[in-house]
Amino acid sequence: MRPEILNPLFQPLASLKGVGPKLAPKLGKLVGPSGETAREAVVGDLLLHVPTHLIDRSREELITTAPEGAIVTLRVRVDRHRPAPPNGRGPYRIAVHDESGELSVSYFHAEKAWLEKLFPVGETRLVSGRVEWFNGAPQMVHPDHVVSVEDADKLPKMEPVYPMTEGVSPRIMRRAIEGALERLPALPEWQDGPMLARERWPGFAEALTRLHRPEEQSDLAEGNPFLTRLAYDELLANQLALALVRKSLRTAVGRARKPTGEILKRLRAALPFALTGSQDAAIADVLADMGSPNRMIRLVQGDVGSGKTMVALFACAAAVEAGGQASIMAPTELLARQHARSIAPLCEAAGLRLACITGSDRPKARKETLEAVAIGEVDILVGTHALFQQGVLFRDLALAVVDEQHRFGVHQRLALSAKGSRTDLLVMTATPIPRTLLLSYFGDMDVSRLTEKPAGRKPIATRSVSLDRLDEVVERIGTAVQSEGAKAYWVCPLVEESEVSDLAAAEERFAVLKDVFGDMVALVHGRMKAAEKDEAMRRFQSGEARVLVATTVIEVGVDVPDATIIVIEHAERFGLAQLHQLRGRVGRGSKASTCLLLFKAPLGETAKARLTVMRESEDGFRIAEEDLKLRGGGELLGTRQSGMPGFRLVRPEIHGHLTEMARDDAALVLAKDPGLQTERGAALRTLLYLFGRDEAVRLIRAG
Ligand code: ADP
Ligand code: MG
Repeated sequence: MRPEILNPLFQPLASLKGVGPKLAPKLGKLVGPSGETAREAVVGDLLLHVPTHLIDRSREELITTAPEGAIVTLRVRVDRHRPAPPNGRGPYRIAVHDESGELSVSYFHAEKAWLEKLFPVGETRLVSGRVEWFNGAPQMVHPDHVVSVEDADKLPKMEPVYPMTEGVSPRIMRRAIEGALERLPALPEWQDGPMLARERWPGFAEALTRLHRPEEQSDLAEGNPFLTRLAYDELLANQLALALVRKSLRTAVGRARKPTGEILKRLRAALPFALTGSQDAAIADVLADMGSPNRMIRLVQGDVGSGKTMVALFACAAAVEAGGQASIMAPTELLARQHARSIAPLCEAAGLRLACITGSDRPKARKETLEAVAIGEVDILVGTHALFQQGVLFRDLALAVVDEQHRFGVHQRLALSAKGSRTDLLVMTATPIPRTLLLSYFGDMDVSRLTEKPAGRKPIATRSVSLDRLDEVVERIGTAVQSEGAKAYWVCPLVEESEVSDLAAAEERFAVLKDVFGDMVALVHGRMKAAEKDEAMRRFQSGEARVLVATTVIEVGVDVPDATIIVIEHAERFGLAQLHQLRGRVGRGSKASTCLLLFKAPLGETAKARLTVMRESEDGFRIAEEDLKLRGGGELLGTRQSGMPGFRLVRPEIHGHLTEMARDDAALVLAKDPGLQTERGAALRTLLYLFGRDEAVRLIRAG
């Protein structure tokens, strides 16, 4: 149950004065929690929507010496009005002056009567806004504030600026925030007192209030103690939740599974290559986990192409050998089927019964497979996440492998663990994740890292080329494909707004390339029927097709080892993590590979930096760190928003270093007070609710 003291913060936004039924949803979309299962936005969400910076209007400037382009406050005398010309072109102008000179204040599409009241001729007004010089004369277009001298105190001296959305004006936001601040109850302190003193961090209410009512520029500056305190609150809530999840998963006793070694031996013998040292080490970690009575909760982190699938297969084999079943979940149907196809020969050689189900199976075949799974006639079941969420019944699911899922959140982990009795869990991530993010999202898991790539891999030559030279690129691909027998991916641009336009772009490129290369080109995109996708992939795999035009469906996991060229069109629209993933489709065999990043000039700063990193490095861990610096964690974890998904206040580039402290703090708290029953424990429960980590509260067991 939510602590009662929080009730005022969990009222709907519409309960605030000035927030009506029309505004509430708009505001809610801006400040509320996101995600499919998100609850309605509440007053507390608004309070956690903190300003990004501050406009200081406290100093009065003179017209002629006001810094160009800066927001200033001027004390001016109104001279005359010059209404807008009747043709509607040009603004309504008001001439004003101060002791230093003249200024023209202009308005577009404003009412004459209103402006005459706002600027009575002969009177003095304080105007605040941006001064710009135009044709040698200073002007101010649409001042932010105009007040009389008597009303000088109505001018906000320190004005916090919030991330905004359409239909919510700064004034409305201000009022709603003020209303929300009035609801802020006096909450018990959940942080450790001596720690607060040492860090010189303020209390929760003080921090929040000061951010919304800043007193000086430095209050909102990067690294300010107010936001830092709140970010730490959020980090601690998260770490506490992860620790509770871990404890709850762990104490549900697994069972020691001791494989005999027979199947593993056969599997090893059937491999066409030797495992890398990293693969061997990760497999050893997994076997040790499975052999212990505790449930396995392990993350395998490895760069693209490092061979995670083999680790998964060995884990599955061990589970089967010990008498259970295993499942592998892939994020897309394409990948699920590819996994099944690629491990099928090894499974057969090792005597493992493999099946695959996806949404597009015929009902009859699907039913048969599910029955076989239920009676234990299938050892390894491959499928997509969605299917597993809908409940497939296993006879005895001993191991669940979750592949390429960077957003396999706490919620999903709990859901999955509720599925099989004592099922071991192995999660594999698509991208190397920097340490701070790893702790924040997978802090409850043990980690194995694949640091080596399979032997014999050649570096990938990466070049960026302007789209103006598209014809040359097509010609070069033509030569490589037609006379050298190469295979190439051609990835089409990502269009932010809609999948439909992604598709249109891919189809258009497909048509153009088909004109040049004929039947050697295949197309694959997310909207195709599964059978069509499979057919396109099959043609590319077999070499009937040598150029595969694709949308980003090929981003994760697709494995065609003899493809050696990848062209990424509009590379400037992709994030680093995505580019790295895409590039990882080549360089998988023994031949040298090429990655061409086609960009549209001119490049912005960030895009330029990204392409440079791509040219300079193939090291996924370095790329991940750079990505974090350039973009925050959002993109890395598969969303396009900046900041950290699931977090309201934490900016990894500013507060990331506090993650470890929060982790240690959470461990200490739970060691001393596992049921969160002390006074501080109770306060910490409040914290969990405040930051939407209350799912974890249900996991707390007394004692
Ligand atoms: P990822 O880690 O990106 O999932 P995959 O598991 O798809 O990588 O492996 C990439 C490719 O490397 C596959 O073609 C796979 O068969 C091959 N591979 C995996 N392990 C080895 C190894 N030890 N030696 C050589 N090739 C390997
Ligand atoms: Mg993979």
